Amino acid sequence: MDEIEGMIFQAEAGAAGQGARQRAMTPELTEEDIAFDRSLRPKRFDDYLGQSKVKESLKVMIEAALSRGDVVDHILFSGPPGLGKTTLASVVASELDANIRTTSGPAIERTGDLAAILTNLEEGDVLFIDEIHRLNRMVEEILYPALEDFSLDIMVGKGPAARSIRLDIPRFTMIGATTRTGLLTGPLRDRFGIVYRLEYYTPDELADIVERSATILDIGIDREGALEIARRSRGTPRLANRMLKRVRDWAQVRSDGHITEDVAAQALSFFEVDDLGLDAMDNRILHTLCVQFSGAPVGLTTLASALSEETDTLEDVYEPYLMQQGLLIRTPKGRVATARAFEHLGMMPPAS
Ligand code: ADP
Repeated sequence: MDEIEGMIFQAEAGAAGQGARQRAMTPELTEEDIAFDRSLRPKRFDDYLGQSKVKESLKVMIEAALSRGDVVDHILFSGPPGLGKTTLASVVASELDANIRTTSGPAIERTGDLAAILTNLEEGDVLFIDEIHRLNRMVEEILYPALEDFSLDIMVGKGPAARSIRLDIPRFTMIGATTRTGLLTGPLRDRFGIVYRLEYYTPDELADIVERSATILDIGIDREGALEIARRSRGTPRLANRMLKRVRDWAQVRSDGHITEDVAAQALSFFEVDDLGLDAMDNRILHTLCVQFSGAPVGLTTLASALSEETDTLEDVYEPYLMQQGLLIRTPKGRVATARAFEHLGMMPPAS
């Protein structure tokens, strides 16, 4: 057993230094953003607004599992950043009255890191793995038996003396989050009982979220002000909350501090967020496609280098919303701006 304990200890020591790296993988989030997100994060289903279909289905699953005295099936949440995947995972844990352990795909570098996490779980815990599509394959292999049979196969010793030992681990529920289900390997995706796709929020739902956050932060805002922020937040709660904070600052300096529709519109224009909720980067993407490439299809890497942006960020953060708004389409030949994109930039679409 000494060998195993030694291995786990090493893995724990490895896992302890993960904080910084874990943050680095979401470049758009600063430490301040993370603290701010946390302060506004809903704890129960009642505070988690919108996504009603997903919530209803989760509630049934949780109630059924609790009444059977069983653990809930492993769950996968997918959707663009900031839609509430992490929040929903912690809501599920609270509703189950369970502890949640949080980590991320890139933070689990070695199989020993995962072994340490799994052997430290307690019965009924929720293990949340953010960016699960970024788990490395070796780590993934260890995860399969853990998810299926709650057991762990680990190698002990080296060379000819090496042998595999099977350990039982506590029954747990894994919740994975990913911005792209397409990047998950088939076997991993199959291990999830349920896959939920989170959708962009409607302006009304986002306005409810803005009003809830304003109450927590003690900010005066009327419904029209909340709706104006909501309409310009790309259907994303994280952005809506961030906008609220910036508009509050603007309102304090330039007006009487209370957020009305007019104040919100002025502040957001000042911060270069337009009436479709597109920010300066979104508009640069459209401008590049429409002007620089004259509406011709542009490959992802070409587009990324023209913008000095990472391809992943373009695919995960910017494109989904531009596509949802009917401004950009992905074609086999590359990214193409739609007629609506040209109109948005005040240009005539090219004759087709
Ligand atoms: P993701 O994990 O999908 O990137 P998060 O769960 O971190 O997104 O959500 C970002 C922030 O948005 C949270 O801190 C929370 O304040 C807010 N938020 C997300 N979803 C909701 C919701 N349904 N209701 C209220 N606030 C939400």
